[in-house]
Amino acid sequence: MADLREEIEKRRTFAIISHPDAGKTTLTEKFLLYGGAINLAGSVKGKATARHAVSDWMEIEKERGISVTSSVLQFNYDGYCINILDTPGHQDFSEDTYRTLMAADSAVMVIDASKGVEAQTRKLFKVCVMRHIPIFTFINKMDRDANDTFELLDDIEKELGIETCPINWPIGSGKDFKGVYDRNTKKVMTFSDTLKGTKEGEQKEIDIDDPALKEELGEDYWSQLMDEIELLDGASAEFDQDMVSKGELSPVFFGSALTNFGVETFLQHFLKMTYSPLPRNSDIGPIDPFSEDFSAFVFKIQANMNKAHRDRIAFMRICSGKFEAGMEVMHIQGGKKIRLAQPQQMMAQERHIVEEAYAGDIIGVFDPGIFSIGDTIETSAKPFRYEGIPTFAPEHFARVRQVDTMKRKQFVKGITQIAQEGAIQIFQEYHTGMEEIIVGVVGVLQFDVLKYRLENEYNVEIHMENLPYEHIRWIKNKELDLDKLTGTSDMKKIQDLKGNPLLLFINAWSVGMVLDRNEGLELEEFGRD
Ligand code: GDP
Repeated sequence: MADLREEIEKRRTFAIISHPDAGKTTLTEKFLLYGGAINLAGSVKGKATARHAVSDWMEIEKERGISVTSSVLQFNYDGYCINILDTPGHQDFSEDTYRTLMAADSAVMVIDASKGVEAQTRKLFKVCVMRHIPIFTFINKMDRDANDTFELLDDIEKELGIETCPINWPIGSGKDFKGVYDRNTKKVMTFSDTLKGTKEGEQKEIDIDDPALKEELGEDYWSQLMDEIELLDGASAEFDQDMVSKGELSPVFFGSALTNFGVETFLQHFLKMTYSPLPRNSDIGPIDPFSEDFSAFVFKIQANMNKAHRDRIAFMRICSGKFEAGMEVMHIQGGKKIRLAQPQQMMAQERHIVEEAYAGDIIGVFDPGIFSIGDTIETSAKPFRYEGIPTFAPEHFARVRQVDTMKRKQFVKGITQIAQEGAIQIFQEYHTGMEEIIVGVVGVLQFDVLKYRLENEYNVEIHMENLPYEHIRWIKNKELDLDKLTGTSDMKKIQDLKGNPLLLFINAWSVGMVLDRNEGLELEEFGRD
Protein backbone atom coordinates (compact mmCIF):
# COMPACT_ATOMS: atom_id res chain seq x y z
CA MET A 1 0.00 0.00 0.00
CA ALA A 2 1.77 3.05 -1.29
CA ASP A 3 -0.27 5.54 0.65
CA LEU A 4 0.42 3.79 3.96
CA ARG A 5 4.15 4.16 3.39
CA GLU A 6 3.74 7.72 2.20
CA GLU A 7 1.66 8.71 5.20
CA ILE A 8 4.04 7.17 7.70
CA GLU A 9 7.13 8.55 6.00
CA LYS A 10 5.91 12.09 6.42
CA ARG A 11 5.34 11.67 10.16
CA ARG A 12 7.63 13.29 12.72
CA THR A 13 6.75 12.88 16.38
CA PHE A 14 8.70 14.77 18.97
CA ALA A 15 8.46 16.09 22.50
CA ILE A 16 9.48 19.53 23.63
CA ILE A 17 11.23 19.68 26.95
CA SER A 18 12.43 22.61 28.98
CA HIS A 19 12.62 24.10 32.38
CA PRO A 20 9.56 26.30 33.05
CA ASP A 21 9.77 29.72 31.43
CA ALA A 22 12.50 28.84 28.96
CA GLY A 23 10.00 29.45 26.16
CA LYS A 24 8.55 26.08 25.24
CA THR A 25 5.02 27.38 24.84
CA THR A 26 6.15 30.34 22.78
CA LEU A 27 8.26 28.15 20.50
CA THR A 28 5.38 25.73 20.00
CA GLU A 29 3.07 28.58 19.09
CA LYS A 30 5.54 29.82 16.53
CA PHE A 31 5.84 26.35 15.00
CA LEU A 32 2.12 26.39 14.53
CA LEU A 33 2.36 29.67 12.65
CA TYR A 34 4.27 27.86 9.94
CA GLY A 35 1.92 24.99 9.50
CA GLY A 36 -1.81 24.94 9.33
CA ALA A 37 -2.58 23.45 12.70
CA ILE A 38 -4.86 20.56 12.01
CA ASN A 39 -5.40 19.24 15.46
CA LEU A 40 -4.84 20.96 18.72
CA ALA A 41 -4.90 18.59 21.58
CA GLY A 42 -5.17 20.30 24.88
CA SER A 43 -3.93 23.38 23.05
CA VAL A 44 -0.81 25.25 23.80
CA LYS A 45 -1.44 26.50 27.26
CA GLY A 46 -0.02 29.96 26.97
CA LYS A 47 -0.86 32.07 29.93
CA ALA A 48 -2.34 34.60 27.55
CA THR A 49 -4.45 32.07 25.72
CA ALA A 50 -5.86 30.39 28.80
CA ARG A 51 -8.71 28.21 27.72
CA HIS A 52 -11.19 26.57 29.95
CA ALA A 53 -10.49 23.10 31.09
CA VAL A 54 -13.25 20.58 30.86
CA SER A 55 -12.58 18.07 33.53
CA ASP A 56 -13.32 19.08 37.05
CA TRP A 57 -10.14 18.22 38.78
CA MET A 58 -8.43 20.42 36.34
CA GLU A 59 -9.80 23.19 38.53
CA ILE A 60 -6.42 22.94 40.12
CA GLU A 61 -4.86 23.93 36.86
CA LYS A 62 -7.26 26.80 36.45
CA GLU A 63 -6.80 28.07 39.96
CA ARG A 64 -3.07 28.09 39.68
CA GLY A 65 -2.75 28.85 36.01
CA ILE A 66 -0.45 25.97 35.36
CA SER A 67 -0.76 22.99 33.16
CA VAL A 68 -0.83 19.64 34.86
CA THR A 69 -1.38 17.45 31.86
CA SER A 70 0.55 17.14 28.70
CA SER A 71 -1.08 17.57 25.36
CA VAL A 72 -0.55 16.62 21.77
CA LEU A 73 -0.86 18.72 18.70
CA GLN A 74 -0.52 18.00 15.06
CA PHE A 75 0.25 20.23 12.10
CA ASN A 76 1.35 20.02 8.50
CA TYR A 77 4.41 21.76 7.23
CA ASP A 78 6.21 21.42 3.93
CA GLY A 79 4.81 17.98 3.23
CA TYR A 80 5.44 16.69 6.73
CA CYS A 81 2.84 15.77 9.31
CA ILE A 82 4.23 16.80 12.66
CA ASN A 83 3.09 15.65 16.08
CA ILE A 84 4.31 17.72 18.98
CA LEU A 85 4.00 16.22 22.40
CA ASP A 86 3.87 19.02 24.87
CA THR A 87 4.83 18.24 28.42
CA PRO A 88 3.47 19.85 31.59
CA GLY A 89 5.10 23.18 32.10
CA HIS A 90 5.11 23.35 35.84
CA GLN A 91 8.06 22.18 37.86
CA ASP A 92 5.77 20.01 39.90
CA PHE A 93 5.40 17.90 36.85
CA SER A 94 4.25 14.34 37.05
CA GLU A 95 5.29 11.01 35.66
CA ASP A 96 3.23 11.84 32.60
CA THR A 97 6.06 14.05 31.49
CA TYR A 98 8.43 11.12 31.50
CA ARG A 99 5.93 8.88 29.80
CA THR A 100 5.34 11.41 27.07
CA LEU A 101 9.00 11.05 26.22
CA MET A 102 8.45 7.31 25.82
CA ALA A 103 6.00 8.10 23.03
CA ALA A 104 8.27 10.53 21.19
CA ASP A 105 10.80 9.74 18.48
CA SER A 106 12.99 12.73 19.25
CA ALA A 107 13.14 15.63 21.64
CA VAL A 108 13.62 19.35 21.35
CA MET A 109 15.25 20.90 24.37
CA VAL A 110 14.59 24.60 24.86
CA ILE A 111 17.19 26.42 26.91
CA ASP A 112 17.09 29.99 28.15
CA ALA A 113 20.25 31.67 26.87
CA SER A 114 20.73 33.59 30.08
CA LYS A 115 20.32 30.54 32.30
CA GLY A 116 21.83 27.53 30.59
CA VAL A 117 20.88 24.03 31.68
CA GLU A 118 18.34 24.06 34.53
CA ALA A 119 17.12 21.42 36.96
CA GLN A 120 14.11 20.13 35.09
CA THR A 121 15.92 19.94 31.78
CA ARG A 122 18.46 17.69 33.44
CA LYS A 123 15.84 15.22 34.67
CA LEU A 124 14.01 15.00 31.37
CA PHE A 125 17.24 14.74 29.52
CA LYS A 126 18.12 11.57 31.44
CA VAL A 127 15.04 9.89 30.02
CA CYS A 128 15.99 10.89 26.48
CA VAL A 129 19.43 9.43 27.01
CA MET A 130 17.96 6.21 28.34
CA ARG A 131 15.98 5.90 25.12
CA HIS A 132 18.81 7.01 22.81
CA ILE A 133 16.54 9.37 20.93
CA PRO A 134 17.89 12.37 19.02
CA ILE A 135 17.98 15.58 21.03
CA PHE A 136 17.91 18.99 19.42
CA THR A 137 18.78 22.10 21.35
CA PHE A 138 17.13 25.45 20.78
CA ILE A 139 18.87 28.19 22.74
CA ASN A 140 16.18 30.76 23.19
CA LYS A 141 15.82 34.42 24.18
CA MET A 142 18.82 35.67 22.26
CA ASP A 143 17.05 39.03 22.13
CA ARG A 144 17.91 39.25 25.84
CA ASP A 145 21.38 39.41 27.30
CA ALA A 146 22.76 35.91 26.95
CA ASN A 147 25.57 33.94 28.51
CA ASP A 148 28.72 33.53 26.50
CA THR A 149 28.00 31.19 23.59
CA PHE A 150 30.97 28.90 24.17
CA GLU A 151 30.06 28.69 27.84
CA LEU A 152 26.49 27.74 26.99
CA LEU A 153 27.69 24.87 24.84
CA ASP A 154 30.19 23.84 27.47
CA ASP A 155 27.44 23.83 30.05
CA ILE A 156 25.32 21.46 27.95
CA GLU A 157 28.24 19.15 27.29
CA LYS A 158 29.32 19.02 30.92
CA GLU A 159 25.93 18.99 32.58
CA LEU A 160 24.29 16.57 30.23
CA GLY A 161 27.20 14.60 28.95
CA ILE A 162 26.35 14.99 25.29
CA GLU A 163 28.39 16.53 22.51
CA THR A 164 27.05 19.61 20.79
CA CYS A 165 27.28 20.81 17.24
CA PRO A 166 26.16 24.38 16.63
CA ILE A 167 24.31 24.57 13.32
CA ASN A 168 24.13 28.31 13.53
CA TRP A 169 26.02 30.82 15.62
CA PRO A 170 24.67 33.95 17.30
CA ILE A 171 26.09 37.41 16.76
CA GLY A 172 25.68 39.48 19.90
CA SER A 173 22.68 39.25 22.19
CA GLY A 174 20.12 41.42 23.91
CA LYS A 175 19.92 44.91 22.50
CA ASP A 176 22.91 44.09 20.38
CA PHE A 177 21.58 40.87 18.92
CA LYS A 178 22.52 41.09 15.27
CA GLY A 179 21.45 37.72 13.97
CA VAL A 180 22.83 34.27 13.39
CA TYR A 181 25.42 32.82 11.07
CA ASP A 182 24.40 29.59 9.38
CA ARG A 183 27.43 27.34 9.25
CA ASN A 184 26.04 25.33 6.36
CA THR A 185 24.98 28.02 3.96
CA LYS A 186 27.71 30.38 5.18
CA LYS A 187 25.19 33.18 5.34
CA VAL A 188 24.27 35.55 8.10
CA MET A 189 20.59 36.04 8.77
CA THR A 190 20.11 39.42 10.32
CA PHE A 191 17.81 39.89 13.26
CA SER A 192 14.86 42.19 13.17
CA ASP A 193 12.16 42.32 15.77
CA THR A 194 8.96 41.06 14.24
CA LEU A 195 6.86 42.61 16.97
CA LYS A 196 6.47 39.39 18.85
CA GLY A 197 5.99 37.50 15.65
CA THR A 198 2.85 39.33 14.56
CA LYS A 199 4.57 40.67 11.52
CA GLU A 200 6.97 39.19 9.07
CA GLY A 201 10.38 40.49 9.89
CA GLU A 202 12.64 42.02 7.32
CA GLN A 203 15.33 39.47 7.69
CA LYS A 204 18.24 39.82 5.39
CA GLU A 205 20.54 37.04 4.34
CA ILE A 206 24.06 38.17 3.73
CA ASP A 207 26.87 36.01 2.50
CA ILE A 208 29.76 35.73 4.93
CA ASP A 209 32.18 37.01 2.23
CA ASP A 210 29.96 39.91 1.23
CA PRO A 211 31.66 43.22 2.10
CA ALA A 212 28.24 44.59 3.07
CA LEU A 213 28.24 42.31 6.08
CA LYS A 214 30.87 44.31 7.92
CA GLU A 215 28.76 47.39 7.59
CA GLU A 216 25.61 45.62 8.66
CA LEU A 217 27.15 44.13 11.81
CA GLY A 218 29.59 46.86 12.66
CA GLU A 219 33.35 46.42 12.79
CA ASP A 220 33.49 44.91 16.30
CA TYR A 221 30.82 42.27 15.84
CA TRP A 222 32.11 41.45 12.42
CA SER A 223 35.63 40.72 13.60
CA GLN A 224 34.35 38.85 16.64
CA LEU A 225 32.28 36.66 14.35
CA MET A 226 35.26 35.96 12.12
CA ASP A 227 37.33 34.95 15.13
CA GLU A 228 34.60 32.77 16.53
CA ILE A 229 34.01 31.01 13.24
CA GLU A 230 37.66 30.15 13.05
CA LEU A 231 37.69 28.94 16.62
CA LEU A 232 34.52 26.99 16.12
CA ASP A 233 35.62 25.22 12.97
CA GLY A 234 38.70 24.10 14.80
CA ALA A 235 37.19 23.18 18.13
CA SER A 236 33.62 21.97 17.86
CA ALA A 237 32.39 18.52 17.00
CA GLU A 238 31.69 17.88 13.34
CA PHE A 239 28.13 17.29 12.39
CA ASP A 240 27.53 13.57 12.29
CA GLN A 241 24.03 12.38 11.41
CA ASP A 242 24.67 8.96 12.83
CA MET A 243 25.60 10.36 16.22
CA VAL A 244 22.59 12.68 16.13
CA SER A 245 20.31 9.73 15.46
CA LYS A 246 21.71 7.86 18.43
CA GLY A 247 21.32 10.85 20.70
CA GLU A 248 25.06 11.27 21.20
CA LEU A 249 25.39 14.62 19.50
CA SER A 250 22.93 17.45 19.82
CA PRO A 251 22.57 19.93 16.95
CA VAL A 252 22.30 23.39 18.52
CA PHE A 253 20.36 26.36 17.19
CA PHE A 254 20.15 29.90 18.48
CA GLY A 255 17.13 32.10 18.18
CA SER A 256 14.37 34.01 19.81
CA ALA A 257 10.99 32.36 19.91
CA LEU A 258 9.19 35.48 21.06
CA THR A 259 10.34 37.53 18.09
CA ASN A 260 10.04 34.52 15.83
CA PHE A 261 13.66 34.62 14.85
CA GLY A 262 15.41 31.42 13.87
CA VAL A 263 12.32 29.30 14.40
CA GLU A 264 11.59 28.34 10.82
CA THR A 265 15.20 27.47 9.99
CA PHE A 266 15.27 25.39 13.12
CA LEU A 267 12.14 23.54 12.03
CA GLN A 268 13.53 22.98 8.53
CA HIS A 269 16.83 21.59 9.78
CA PHE A 270 15.09 19.53 12.40
CA LEU A 271 12.88 17.87 9.80
CA LYS A 272 15.87 17.00 7.65
CA MET A 273 17.83 15.57 10.56
CA THR A 274 15.09 13.33 11.91
CA TYR A 275 13.39 10.23 10.60
CA SER A 276 9.86 9.01 10.34
CA PRO A 277 8.88 6.43 13.00
CA LEU A 278 11.45 3.65 13.38
CA PRO A 279 10.81 0.03 14.39
CA ARG A 280 9.99 -0.33 18.07
CA ASN A 281 11.08 -3.22 20.26
CA SER A 282 8.69 -5.92 21.36
CA ASP A 283 9.00 -9.35 22.90
CA ILE A 284 9.24 -10.85 19.43
CA GLY A 285 11.80 -8.31 18.21
CA PRO A 286 11.46 -4.95 16.47
CA ILE A 287 8.11 -4.23 14.82
CA ASP A 288 8.20 -2.59 11.40
CA PRO A 289 6.20 0.67 11.41
CA PHE A 290 5.22 0.11 7.78
CA SER A 291 3.59 -3.21 8.54
CA GLU A 292 0.00 -3.57 7.38
CA ASP A 293 -0.93 -4.54 10.92
CA PHE A 294 -1.93 -1.82 13.30
CA SER A 295 -0.23 -1.71 16.66
CA ALA A 296 0.04 0.81 19.49
CA PHE A 297 0.88 1.08 23.14
CA VAL A 298 -0.77 3.02 25.95
CA PHE A 299 1.51 5.67 27.44
CA LYS A 300 -0.89 7.77 29.38
CA ILE A 301 -4.32 7.53 30.96
CA GLN A 302 -6.36 10.59 31.63
CA ALA A 303 -9.21 10.28 34.06
CA ASN A 304 -12.60 11.81 34.38
CA MET A 305 -13.02 13.97 31.41
CA ASN A 306 -16.63 13.89 32.42
CA LYS A 307 -17.37 13.71 36.09
CA ALA A 308 -20.81 12.18 35.62
CA HIS A 309 -19.27 9.07 34.12
CA ARG A 310 -16.08 7.88 35.60
CA ASP A 311 -14.61 7.48 32.17
CA ARG A 312 -11.04 7.67 31.18
CA ILE A 313 -9.14 8.30 28.01
CA ALA A 314 -6.22 6.05 27.20
CA PHE A 315 -3.61 7.74 25.03
CA MET A 316 -1.87 5.48 22.58
CA ARG A 317 1.10 5.95 20.41
CA ILE A 318 0.61 4.18 17.11
CA CYS A 319 3.74 2.24 16.24
CA SER A 320 2.77 0.46 13.05
CA GLY A 321 0.17 0.44 10.34
CA LYS A 322 -2.99 2.41 10.03
CA PHE A 323 -5.73 3.00 12.49
CA GLU A 324 -9.33 3.19 11.32
CA ALA A 325 -12.23 4.25 13.46
CA GLY A 326 -14.23 1.36 14.85
CA MET A 327 -11.60 -1.23 14.03
CA GLU A 328 -11.38 -4.40 16.07
CA VAL A 329 -8.09 -4.89 17.86
CA MET A 330 -6.54 -7.25 20.32
CA HIS A 331 -5.81 -5.84 23.74
CA ILE A 332 -2.90 -8.10 24.63
CA GLN A 333 -2.71 -7.54 28.38
CA GLY A 334 -6.48 -7.90 28.73
CA GLY A 335 -6.48 -10.98 26.50
CA LYS A 336 -9.56 -9.71 24.67
CA LYS A 337 -10.66 -8.38 21.33
CA ILE A 338 -12.04 -4.88 21.63
CA ARG A 339 -13.43 -2.30 19.29
CA LEU A 340 -11.76 1.07 19.32
CA ALA A 341 -14.83 3.19 19.06
CA GLN A 342 -14.87 6.96 19.14
CA PRO A 343 -11.17 7.50 19.04
CA GLN A 344 -10.10 11.02 19.66
CA GLN A 345 -7.03 12.79 18.65
CA MET A 346 -6.83 14.89 21.69
CA MET A 347 -7.56 15.60 25.21
CA ALA A 348 -9.02 18.19 27.49
CA GLN A 349 -10.41 21.18 25.67
CA GLU A 350 -11.04 20.27 22.11
CA ARG A 351 -11.67 16.67 21.49
CA HIS A 352 -12.40 15.58 18.03
CA ILE A 353 -13.07 12.26 16.47
CA VAL A 354 -10.47 10.80 14.18
CA GLU A 355 -11.33 8.51 11.32
CA GLU A 356 -7.83 7.38 10.59
CA ALA A 357 -4.35 7.75 11.95
CA TYR A 358 -0.94 6.31 11.17
CA ALA A 359 2.22 5.09 12.84
CA GLY A 360 3.70 8.08 14.61
CA ASP A 361 0.33 9.54 15.59
CA ILE A 362 -1.21 9.69 19.03
CA ILE A 363 -4.85 8.85 19.59
CA GLY A 364 -6.95 8.89 22.70
CA VAL A 365 -9.58 6.21 23.06
CA PHE A 366 -12.38 5.78 25.52
CA ASP A 367 -11.26 3.52 28.33
CA PRO A 368 -13.89 1.74 30.38
CA GLY A 369 -11.17 0.95 32.92
CA ILE A 370 -9.42 -1.87 31.10
CA PHE A 371 -6.14 -0.27 30.10
CA SER A 372 -2.96 0.17 32.06
CA ILE A 373 0.12 2.17 31.17
CA GLY A 374 2.31 0.21 28.78
CA ASP A 375 -0.42 -2.07 27.35
CA THR A 376 -0.17 -3.22 23.74
CA ILE A 377 -3.05 -3.08 21.27
CA GLU A 378 -2.69 -4.65 17.86
CA THR A 379 -4.19 -6.54 14.96
CA SER A 380 -1.44 -8.91 13.89
CA ALA A 381 -2.01 -12.64 13.70
CA LYS A 382 1.03 -13.20 15.86
CA PRO A 383 0.45 -11.47 19.19
CA PHE A 384 3.29 -9.51 20.77
CA ARG A 385 3.91 -7.01 23.51
CA TYR A 386 5.81 -3.79 23.21
CA GLU A 387 8.54 -3.21 25.74
CA GLY A 388 7.00 -1.85 28.92
CA ILE A 389 7.25 1.70 30.14
CA PRO A 390 9.50 1.94 33.16
CA THR A 391 8.11 3.20 36.45
CA PHE A 392 9.93 6.40 37.21
CA ALA A 393 11.23 7.04 40.66
CA PRO A 394 8.90 9.18 42.79
CA GLU A 395 10.70 11.84 44.77
CA HIS A 396 8.07 12.72 47.35
CA PHE A 397 6.29 10.39 49.69
CA ALA A 398 3.37 10.65 52.08
CA ARG A 399 1.44 8.30 54.32
CA VAL A 400 -2.22 8.50 53.45
CA ARG A 401 -5.35 7.28 55.24
CA GLN A 402 -9.05 8.04 55.05
CA VAL A 403 -10.50 10.26 57.75
CA ASP A 404 -13.75 8.30 58.03
CA THR A 405 -12.95 4.64 58.65
CA MET A 406 -16.35 3.64 57.26
CA LYS A 407 -15.16 4.80 53.87
CA ARG A 408 -12.35 2.31 53.66
CA LYS A 409 -13.72 0.64 50.56
CA GLN A 410 -14.14 3.80 48.52
CA PHE A 411 -10.74 4.97 49.65
CA VAL A 412 -8.98 1.83 48.48
CA LYS A 413 -10.93 1.79 45.23
CA GLY A 414 -10.23 5.45 44.51
CA ILE A 415 -6.57 5.38 45.31
CA THR A 416 -6.06 2.14 43.39
CA GLN A 417 -7.79 3.56 40.30
CA ILE A 418 -5.80 6.75 40.44
CA ALA A 419 -2.62 4.71 40.77
CA GLN A 420 -3.64 2.59 37.79
CA GLU A 421 -3.85 5.74 35.73
CA GLY A 422 -0.26 6.35 36.68
CA ALA A 423 -0.73 9.69 38.42
CA ILE A 424 0.64 8.33 41.68
CA GLN A 425 2.37 5.19 42.85
CA ILE A 426 1.19 3.34 45.91
CA PHE A 427 3.16 1.25 48.34
CA GLN A 428 2.61 -0.53 51.60
CA GLU A 429 4.60 -1.02 54.73
CA TYR A 430 6.85 -4.00 54.27
CA HIS A 431 5.23 -7.22 55.54
CA THR A 432 1.96 -5.57 56.54
CA GLY A 433 -1.24 -5.11 54.65
CA MET A 434 -2.93 -2.18 52.99
CA GLU A 435 -3.86 -0.57 56.30
CA GLU A 436 -1.69 2.45 55.71
CA ILE A 437 -0.83 3.44 52.24
CA ILE A 438 2.34 5.19 51.22
CA VAL A 439 1.93 7.33 48.16
CA GLY A 440 4.89 8.31 46.00
CA VAL A 441 4.75 11.10 43.42
CA VAL A 442 7.17 12.66 41.00
CA GLY A 443 5.87 16.18 41.55
CA VAL A 444 4.28 17.38 44.81
CA LEU A 445 1.37 18.82 42.90
CA GLN A 446 0.15 15.27 42.43
CA PHE A 447 -0.61 15.15 46.15
CA ASP A 448 -3.09 17.99 45.70
CA VAL A 449 -4.56 16.31 42.68
CA LEU A 450 -4.96 13.08 44.66
CA LYS A 451 -6.67 14.81 47.56
CA TYR A 452 -8.93 16.79 45.28
CA ARG A 453 -9.93 13.79 43.24
CA LEU A 454 -10.58 11.51 46.21
CA GLU A 455 -12.83 14.14 47.73
CA ASN A 456 -14.63 15.09 44.55
CA GLU A 457 -14.88 11.84 42.70
CA TYR A 458 -14.92 9.27 45.47
CA ASN A 459 -16.28 11.36 48.31
CA VAL A 460 -13.44 10.38 50.59
CA GLU A 461 -11.61 12.80 52.78
CA ILE A 462 -8.02 11.89 53.48
CA HIS A 463 -5.33 12.67 55.94
CA MET A 464 -1.87 13.00 54.51
CA GLU A 465 1.38 12.95 56.40
CA ASN A 466 4.49 13.86 54.47
CA LEU A 467 7.43 11.52 54.80
CA PRO A 468 11.03 12.71 54.59
CA TYR A 469 12.15 10.19 51.95
CA GLU A 470 13.39 11.43 48.60
CA HIS A 471 15.05 8.45 47.03
CA ILE A 472 13.56 5.13 46.06
CA ARG A 473 15.30 2.08 44.70
CA TRP A 474 13.97 -1.06 43.15
CA ILE A 475 15.81 -4.21 44.08
CA LYS A 476 17.10 -5.88 40.96
CA ASN A 477 18.03 -9.22 42.43
CA LYS A 478 14.65 -10.24 43.73
CA GLU A 479 15.85 -13.49 45.28
CA LEU A 480 17.64 -11.53 48.00
CA ASP A 481 16.34 -12.03 51.54
CA LEU A 482 15.27 -8.55 52.57
CA ASP A 483 15.06 -9.49 56.24
CA LYS A 484 18.80 -10.00 56.26
CA LEU A 485 19.57 -6.67 54.63
CA THR A 486 21.82 -4.33 56.61
CA GLY A 487 20.28 -0.90 56.29
CA THR A 488 21.02 2.59 57.53
CA SER A 489 19.07 4.59 60.08
CA ASP A 490 17.35 6.62 57.38
CA MET A 491 16.34 3.65 55.24
CA LYS A 492 12.83 2.24 55.06
CA LYS A 493 11.67 -1.02 53.51
CA ILE A 494 8.39 -0.94 51.66
CA GLN A 495 6.67 -3.07 49.05
CA ASP A 496 4.59 -2.39 45.99
CA LEU A 497 1.15 -3.90 45.48
CA LYS A 498 2.64 -6.92 43.79
CA GLY A 499 4.74 -7.56 46.88
CA ASN A 500 8.03 -6.47 45.30
CA PRO A 501 10.34 -5.00 47.93
CA LEU A 502 11.70 -1.48 47.59
CA LEU A 503 13.90 0.77 49.64
CA LEU A 504 13.31 4.37 50.61
CA PHE A 505 16.10 6.72 51.67
CA ILE A 506 16.24 10.22 53.05
CA ASN A 507 19.79 10.82 51.90
CA ALA A 508 21.33 9.93 48.59
CA TRP A 509 24.58 8.88 50.25
CA SER A 510 22.78 6.20 52.24
CA VAL A 511 22.07 4.41 48.98
CA GLY A 512 25.78 3.93 48.46
CA MET A 513 26.27 2.91 52.04
CA VAL A 514 23.63 0.20 51.86
CA LEU A 515 25.19 -1.08 48.65
CA ASP A 516 28.55 -1.25 50.42
CA ARG A 517 27.13 -3.06 53.40
CA ASN A 518 25.30 -5.72 51.40
CA GLU A 519 27.40 -7.59 48.95
CA GLY A 520 25.60 -8.63 45.82
CA LEU A 521 22.72 -6.18 46.30
CA GLU A 522 21.71 -4.49 43.06
CA LEU A 523 19.51 -1.41 43.06
CA GLU A 524 17.72 0.32 40.21
CA GLU A 525 16.33 3.82 39.78
CA PHE A 526 13.63 2.71 37.38
CA GLY A 527 11.08 0.02 38.02
CA ARG A 528 10.57 -2.50 35.22
CA ASP A 529 7.98 -5.21 35.00
P1 GDP B 1 7.46 27.84 29.02
O1 GDP B 1 7.16 27.89 30.47
O2 GDP B 1 8.76 27.17 28.73
O3 GDP B 1 6.34 27.32 28.17
O4 GDP B 1 7.75 29.38 28.60
P2 GDP B 1 6.83 30.41 27.84
O5 GDP B 1 6.81 30.14 26.37
O6 GDP B 1 5.52 30.56 28.52
O7 GDP B 1 7.73 31.73 28.03
C1 GDP B 1 8.03 32.24 29.31
C2 GDP B 1 8.21 33.74 29.21
O8 GDP B 1 9.35 34.05 28.41
C3 GDP B 1 7.04 34.44 28.55
O9 GDP B 1 6.83 35.67 29.20
C4 GDP B 1 7.51 34.64 27.13
O10 GDP B 1 6.90 35.74 26.52
C5 GDP B 1 8.98 34.86 27.33
N1 GDP B 1 9.76 34.45 26.15
C6 GDP B 1 9.66 33.30 25.44
N2 GDP B 1 10.54 33.29 24.42
C7 GDP B 1 11.20 34.46 24.48
C8 GDP B 1 12.23 35.05 23.68
O11 GDP B 1 12.72 34.50 22.69
N3 GDP B 1 12.66 36.28 24.07
C9 GDP B 1 12.16 36.94 25.15
N4 GDP B 1 12.64 38.13 25.43
N5 GDP B 1 11.19 36.41 25.91
C10 GDP B 1 10.71 35.19 25.59
